[in-house]
Amino acid sequence: MADLKFQDLVKISDTRIDNLSSELHQLSLKIWENPELKYEEFFAHNLLTETLKDYNFDVNPQFTLPTAFRAAYSPKINKEDDGDTLTAGIICEYDALPNIGHACGHNLIAEAGIAAALGVQAALKSSSSLGRVVVYGTPAEEGGGGKIKMIKNKCFEEVDFIMMVHPHSYNAAFPTYIACIGVKVTYKGHQAHASGGPWEGVNALDAAVMAYNGISMMRQQMKPTWRIHAIITEGGTAFNVIPARASLHCGVRAPTIPELKILKKKVHSIFEAAARSTGCKVEINWDGEPYKNLVTNSILATTFQENAQELGAPYMPWYEQITKPGGSTDMGNVSQYKPAIHPRYFVSNSVTHTPEFQAEAGTKEAHQYTMIAAKSMARTCLHIMSQPDLMKEINMEFSESVKVQGGELDDE
Ligand SMILES: [Zn+2]
Ligand SMILES: [Zn+2]
Repeated sequence: MADLKFQDLVKISDTRIDNLSSELHQLSLKIWENPELKYEEFFAHNLLTETLKDYNFDVNPQFTLPTAFRAAYSPKINKEDDGDTLTAGIICEYDALPNIGHACGHNLIAEAGIAAALGVQAALKSSSSLGRVVVYGTPAEEGGGGKIKMIKNKCFEEVDFIMMVHPHSYNAAFPTYIACIGVKVTYKGHQAHASGGPWEGVNALDAAVMAYNGISMMRQQMKPTWRIHAIITEGGTAFNVIPARASLHCGVRAPTIPELKILKKKVHSIFEAAARSTGCKVEINWDGEPYKNLVTNSILATTFQENAQELGAPYMPWYEQITKPGGSTDMGNVSQYKPAIHPRYFVSNSVTHTPEFQAEAGTKEAHQYTMIAAKSMARTCLHIMSQPDLMKEINMEFSESVKVQGGELDDE
């Protein structure tokens, strides 16, 4: 009986998403045609909140940040007798990249989030005791850490579990997103004439180069899964003046927060050592918060993958999925706060953050793949909501995995 009921819900949700397909495609295209940078996503924010209002969601626009939002749908009039029902969270991103527009395909993430929410809404209408769905608009994933600010503002506290999808060049319900923290380093020395009296100078560029080389030299002792990338952003103004000031900007990444802690300490020592060897002063400014590694909840991920497969999406085995390299996302922070998934789904063979991927993010094919991802998200929400007992297992796995892979990266 339970299965039959779930199948009915699936049908209602899938049909709703199919019926709204062309409207959803238009929504995605409008965002794609109007790329906006982090924290300036006013057009997309307006479009998405107006759409959700039209579909009877209870919308809080400017939800703790100017371009964030919250939109909830609950079939219940009296929220107090929620009892055991669950709250599912769905995330939309909609920021673009400088110069190359929607080359990360966040227009499709917005589309998928809205589509999934509308699918779940239709099913909730026909089965009012299931629970409620909350959609969050999260700005500035690209370098602004919008979700990190939203967590601080207690934005996702109300949900039992939460999810989003990301377009990619393959399907993966268990993708790798590693922890990342940025650091800006400035060396200060002393100017001198580079020919007339170089021994009078304290060369800040030497310190920056030494730091860069120190990092390069350490790579042999680094785990293959660790990453450091550095650029020298300032290194003097004229070759005949010993530079008094030089700067680096680095990204330091590791698969888990405990590993990132170790790597951060090593890198910090290299920066200090370069200052000591050259006689420079150094300022080391680590970002306040890292992008944490994604902790995928395997029950949610397996449910998502099984549904996506049923809808025709091919998947490699999980052990291959987890060995594919990846970048970092502020959804990692959400995933260490609430049980979550962030599956990748195929839209094109191109790589994200390229002009090719930007073009693909606006195609009809990308929209069609997004419909499958959206249906799979909606089905995952409905699967868990119709079996609330699963939350015990989900929460148990969540707290165990966060204990091992998660935590805080304390600043020393
Ligand atoms: Zn990106
Ligand atoms: Zn992205």
